[in-house]
Amino acid sequence: MLEKPNISYTRVSAPVLERKNIQLIVKRLDLIHPLISGNKFFKLKYNMKSAQKAGYKQLLTFGGAYSNHIHAAAAAAKIDGLSIIGVIRGEKTLPLNPTLQMAQDSGMKIHYVSRSEYRNKAEPEFITQLQNLHGDFYLIPEGGTNSLAIEGTKEILQGEDFDADIITCSIGTGGTLAGIVTSAKEGQKIWGFSSLKGSFILKEFEGLLTKENLSPTADYEIFTNYHFGGYGKHKPELLSFIRDFYDNTGIPLDPIYTGKMMYGVFDKVDQIQEGTKILCLHTGGLQGITGFNSRYGTDLPLK
Ligand SMILES: *Cc1c(COP(=O)(O)O)cnc(C)c1O
Repeated sequence: MLEKPNISYTRVSAPVLERKNIQLIVKRLDLIHPLISGNKFFKLKYNMKSAQKAGYKQLLTFGGAYSNHIHAAAAAAKIDGLSIIGVIRGEKTLPLNPTLQMAQDSGMKIHYVSRSEYRNKAEPEFITQLQNLHGDFYLIPEGGTNSLAIEGTKEILQGEDFDADIITCSIGTGGTLAGIVTSAKEGQKIWGFSSLKGSFILKEFEGLLTKENLSPTADYEIFTNYHFGGYGKHKPELLSFIRDFYDNTGIPLDPIYTGKMMYGVFDKVDQIQEGTKILCLHTGGLQGITGFNSRYGTDLPLK
């Protein structure tokens, strides 16, 4: 996974943007690596290095059955020649969904736990149980957010990215946003769009910065009104936005994270000053679309 990542950008044009001379540029982290997509590449980078340096042969991590993190961690482990156990929330269902099928094909050992058991994912007793069962492992938490992950996400912004007036990012745990707000330049505005329902993320994100002893280098704002019903939930207007955006730009968006962020950006165009340069981070997540389409009978574009 340590090969040089592929960095590319797509400029988006739309009448609502041109009218106000707004430049909207998408940083295509979805294209950064053939298997380890989006922000997950950065979140895993130093965790993989650290596991190998400490001599671990095995990783263990947690996630839902359609998790982008599970998909990326399985690929990273295979590339780096490590074993990996994925502790998956919920019962096994056959056939495996595309995310878990890919993870298993990469060699991930899948350990299913009930939803109630899964809530213990950070409890030391539960981790000890897992160690007794599987042997010693390097632990990567759910969603992959820890100090080393944030070290990685601090590397997302580079070069001309620091000329943008506004940088937008989608939020799950906030690990990616933490790297962005602590690496952006003073004067840049960071907009985070939460995929989860509720405003708990505001406190949780502040808590994450405090715990990691991080100070923002730029102003940020978190929007909690673009969740479309909650994590993994969607509404018809989100799906039609994703289709229209693809038809107009050729950029696929996922319905869990990046679709919600981009919907929010366009919803806010009225509030954006003339001549603003916006950088939208496409954090990936496209692997989840196949499973989403088959679950909901939709036909969202995959790539
Ligand atoms: C995991 C993920 C996120 C959320 O990242 P956090 O660091 O947990 O906030 C955002 N976008 C995509 C596409 C993801 O896969």
